[in-house]
Amino acid sequence: MEISFAGLRALVTGAGKGIGRETVKALQRGGARVVALSRTQADLDSLSRECPGIEVVCVDLADWDATETAVRAVGVVDLLVNNAAVAVLEPFLEVTKEAVDTSFDVNVKSVLHVSQIVAQQMIARRASGAIVNISSQASQCALQNHTVYCATKGALDMLTKVMALELGPQKIRVNAVNPTVVMTDMGRIGWSDPLKAGPMMNRIPLRRFAEVDDVVNSVLFLLSDKSAMITGVTLPIDGGFLAC
Ligand code: NAP
Repeated sequence: MEISFAGLRALVTGAGKGIGRETVKALQRGGARVVALSRTQADLDSLSRECPGIEVVCVDLADWDATETAVRAVGVVDLLVNNAAVAVLEPFLEVTKEAVDTSFDVNVKSVLHVSQIVAQQMIARRASGAIVNISSQASQCALQNHTVYCATKGALDMLTKVMALELGPQKIRVNAVNPTVVMTDMGRIGWSDPLKAGPMMNRIPLRRFAEVDDVVNSVLFLLSDKSAMITGVTLPIDGGFLAC
């Protein structure tokens, strides 16, 4: 299947590392002009060296006002990938206010805010658009010590559906992907211990964790016109985990 993003401009959040970083590279290979947004300038500098021609924006998405300024300055966007997130793992009885605030600021509020700004300019231009939110299997399945992360991803799934409902008439499609464990920096926080990773992998019918490319390929499909009639879905990329 041939996918081309020629002539389109994409914004990827959390582009410094992991899934976001590889999404930037894949979109650029597909012909898009890409804006990479992340929090650590050094990551953006190294990404710029790897992908000459990308634009970079360094901002902390937990800061509502700084995000407003930075994303409004980006201008035209046809494709948006809301990928940035944090995972703070704590047992339910020890969950802190700080973990709740930070996690909801980044994983939910910033997705809503960035998407509002991007969708407003799409509508003002009368342009169609596609948004993909990176959710998780944790949105639909309780995981030990993942109270806050699960709650943010559950909220993100519903945010995705309401965005699809309200933006569909404006020809803006909104979908989510829900990966199982991927061994990025974030994946290593929860799953480096073989005593945790083994039982998790055994619950996945395909008996492996997802690779970054498994996620990126699905994101590219949902951004592309190959999925022109798909909006409002939460697509598991989980080797069957959520089916069982
Ligand atoms: P990662 O390796 O930790 O990378 C996350 C990226 O987001 C980093 O570049 C990070 O920048 C950036 N970021 C985090 N907070 C930010 C903020 N406040 N402002 C701007 N940028 C921020 O994570 P990943 O594994 O690639 O995860 C990407 C997405 O996939 C997330 O939405 C995650 O929830 C989801 N996901 C991951 C897994 C998994 O097992 N890895 C499974 C399911 C879903 P800094 O490093 O500078 O903070």
